[in-house]
Amino acid sequence: MSGAITWLECAGCGASPDAAEPYPFACPNVGSGDVDHVLVRHLDTAVVSRDDVDADRAAGDPCSFVRFRRLLHSYHRARAAGASDEAYVALARRLDAGVAAVDGHGFSETPLARSDALSGALGFGQSGGVWVKDETGNVSGSHKARHLMGVALHLEVAELVGLADPAARRSLAVASCGNAALAAAVVAAAAGRRLRVFVPPDANPAILARLVALGADVVSCERRTGERGDPPYLRLLDALGAGVLPFTCQGNLNGLVIEGGETLGYEIAWQLAAEGISADHLVVQVGGGALASSCAQAFAEATELGVLDRRPALHTVQSVSAHPLERAYHKVRDLVPAGVAGGAGADAGELQGALYAAARHRSHYMWPWESPPHSIAGGILDDETYDWLAVVGGMLATGGLPVVVGEKRLAEANDLARSAGLDADATGTAGLAGLFELIEGERVAPHDRVVLLLTGARRDAGSPG
Ligand SMILES: [Zn+2]
Repeated sequence: MSGAITWLECAGCGASPDAAEPYPFACPNVGSGDVDHVLVRHLDTAVVSRDDVDADRAAGDPCSFVRFRRLLHSYHRARAAGASDEAYVALARRLDAGVAAVDGHGFSETPLARSDALSGALGFGQSGGVWVKDETGNVSGSHKARHLMGVALHLEVAELVGLADPAARRSLAVASCGNAALAAAVVAAAAGRRLRVFVPPDANPAILARLVALGADVVSCERRTGERGDPPYLRLLDALGAGVLPFTCQGNLNGLVIEGGETLGYEIAWQLAAEGISADHLVVQVGGGALASSCAQAFAEATELGVLDRRPALHTVQSVSAHPLERAYHKVRDLVPAGVAGGAGADAGELQGALYAAARHRSHYMWPWESPPHSIAGGILDDETYDWLAVVGGMLATGGLPVVVGEKRLAEANDLARSAGLDADATGTAGLAGLFELIEGERVAPHDRVVLLLTGARRDAGSPG
């Protein structure tokens, strides 16, 4: 892909979708071999100008997808096909206005601020502390809508440049009964697109009512006789096989969801830079792994662009009742014995080789968690970490660790967050539970700066993930 500013390439087999493919969401070789076929969006940070992004951010448009458009594949795809900068901005503004009409507000940057209450409670000194990125006020109440806005922009661009026919739109689909479903329904409604939501029979009635109010087609999925695996996810796969488009927050089904989530990391990087500081640690709660994958990539790119002087150590947090990512981390780490023992990042070449080897033998590293998980942090209980490879790579490159926390920790973290005035559900505060462990293990020192993600609003009717 010489000459392109952004391009898509499978991390498992190296294949790229055809340039004329209107929906380049999955690797063309998906399903072949024991290979982790996940499309990764690459950005040539030697070509993109940080000054241009700074200028876009300073220009005053509140929408993150306008501010950071020069880092998006949908933008460069539009420009390469002859669309003007103004045309893309108009398209993004129109979609964002649609989101605001449905949900009350669009994708403006969410707050990042040092929590003096949390920092004090955790024993941080004046120079260190906990900076909280608060996503609870974002579109649909969580970070999930970011992922899908990136995909929605791509769908609009495909029509703008004549690759897709607006009169023959294909339906979108997601399997979720929580924040991902709500986010998908808001963004699909804003874009005027049909959405099918596959849910389990015991889904929260309040959430189902909201999905229906947003115009989604809700499909309740009973387990079929002899069936193994998650019925809604299996019905989603059936629908995708029949031509419905993946509107999910899982990078293996739609590689472009990672890019939309990157706006979260870009915002943090630019917000830290505006304060004149870097972060030493980033602690991210992990279910399917798309959020952590997005953060890993965004911080790598922001550092290459010179926005930050270094990448923070990426630490991930899973529940003791299901931690397939932690399992995979140790298996990949065994392939890179040098360079990680002291906590510093692994040698880049050695790490790339290990990740490539792991991607070619997926089932040795990632397989469904054996026992049904239960936790108050229901949003991090995915039985596979779909975006595991990029997240393991991010941890190994930065010297971060996979932290596993029990129910007591998760509850303590939620209580502490609430007493510090941070109202999120137990999934949304799971990163704080991980930070407790990192401090106790002396992986985080009192003078360090830590960024935590508060990812999901508390809902009266439960705590969806
Ligand atoms: Zn592939």
